[in-house]
Amino acid sequence: MSTQMSERLENVYQEIIKRNPGEVEFHQAVREVLESLGPVLVKYPELAEQKIIERIAEPERQIIFRVPWQDDKGEIHINRGFRVEFNSSLGPYKGGLRFHPSVYLGIIKFLGFEQIFKNALTGLPIGGAKGGSDFDPKGKSDNEIMRFCQSFMTELYRHLGEYTDVPAGDIGVGGREIGYMFGQYKRITNRYESGVLTGKGLHYGGSLVRTEATGYGAVYFVSEMLRTKKQSFGGKTCIVSGSGNVAIYTIEKIHELGGKVIACSDSNGVIIDKKGIDLDFVKQIKEVERRRIKAYTEKHSDAIYQPGGKIWDIPCDVAMPCATQNELNGKDAEKLVKNGCVAVGEGANMPTTPEGIRVFLESGILYGPGKATNAGGVATSALEMQQNASRDSWTFEYTEKRLAKIMSNIHELCFETAEEFGTPGNYVNGANIAGFMNVGQAMLSMGLI
Ligand code: NDP
Repeated sequence: MSTQMSERLENVYQEIIKRNPGEVEFHQAVREVLESLGPVLVKYPELAEQKIIERIAEPERQIIFRVPWQDDKGEIHINRGFRVEFNSSLGPYKGGLRFHPSVYLGIIKFLGFEQIFKNALTGLPIGGAKGGSDFDPKGKSDNEIMRFCQSFMTELYRHLGEYTDVPAGDIGVGGREIGYMFGQYKRITNRYESGVLTGKGLHYGGSLVRTEATGYGAVYFVSEMLRTKKQSFGGKTCIVSGSGNVAIYTIEKIHELGGKVIACSDSNGVIIDKKGIDLDFVKQIKEVERRRIKAYTEKHSDAIYQPGGKIWDIPCDVAMPCATQNELNGKDAEKLVKNGCVAVGEGANMPTTPEGIRVFLESGILYGPGKATNAGGVATSALEMQQNASRDSWTFEYTEKRLAKIMSNIHELCFETAEEFGTPGNYVNGANIAGFMNVGQAMLSMGLI
């Protein structure tokens, strides 16, 4: 990735900063895309003339709302809810909801902006959006989570619909939260509209493989990258940050493909288990008991827990950041490369800082950016919508085969686009350009909207 942009793109970027003050993550996500687009505007000047970049960077609609709720002691709390409907050129708005105390408009806009291009890469008919709240689910009872989700949906429902906007999960939003939100949507609207949310439970319209999809898909993408170098996961030592939904199913698929994951983490610390992470136990701790990853040492006394530790210091062949944005900086990237890492695949959204990305690209190691690597989650959400629309449910094997094919198509598209635009092996350029071209062409066809 070059840090240079043409004067025209630099002006566009400065204008975006001015119009969206203080939203640093959004600025970062926009800059990363703009840095790839110079050659596209030279080849297709109509995209510049029609101000496609300026239009894409301005959300079609931004909704901010109050979410009042009561805790178990009867105390009242007020949170802020967001839904940024960024782009609907390719289909209904689609993108997850994040519940985390760090959420503010800048985080939702960075995620929504990335989602436009990611969804375009899947080749499926879905637009881009993201939403969430600064609500902190940690330490809350089931009843508190339910009351919060019901209050959140009581406002959000009026903006949703299977042909309008279809949310899913993200950090802090899994099957339990989607269930409460679907129940409230159904109750308010008096409609059993399965296709209005994805990530639903299997007994009421969910899809097999959706839970596993982001992690599995990310591993498929890295497998495809390794294949270009005639390598595979077999025998590789891997590290995976996080221990939530994406991390867990990333670890599961790596183990299935013959790799060994020796470390994972949460926001408090890192677990290192040289024998290979005991995933059943991690699932028990995180999915069933909802405890901290530190509890891993209760069963595995030979594993090491490093409070506040840096997972990227651990030597590995493959690193997969699966926790959150900007969790891997320039120094971390240098350490990974120095320690012999051959591939990095992002399960999380924008986990690597711009300096980190530069280090990876200059080193020539395989580097799969999140908007391509983690697209399997939203792709399988689109498959869930297909099943809902046809009142059908597919088998695990069939759905997983579809996911694997979609990931291999995304890889091929990014790989070939990077070559076509003169930067072979640069998946950042490949993903940004291919995603942008799809959305840009659709917008051109629809006139000035
Ligand atoms: P989960 O809530 O299931 O897990 C998040 C994990 O990341 C937890 O281990 C959490 O630790 C850690 N984490 C979250 N925030 C921070 C933080 N600020 N600092 C350090 N660690 C943190 O979320 P998901 O697994 O669903 O999401 C993980 C990433 O993957 C996110 O970037 C998300 O946007 C991305 N993603 C998710 C998709 C999905 O289908 N779920 C699809 C595509 C991308 P702790 O418990 O300590 O907070």
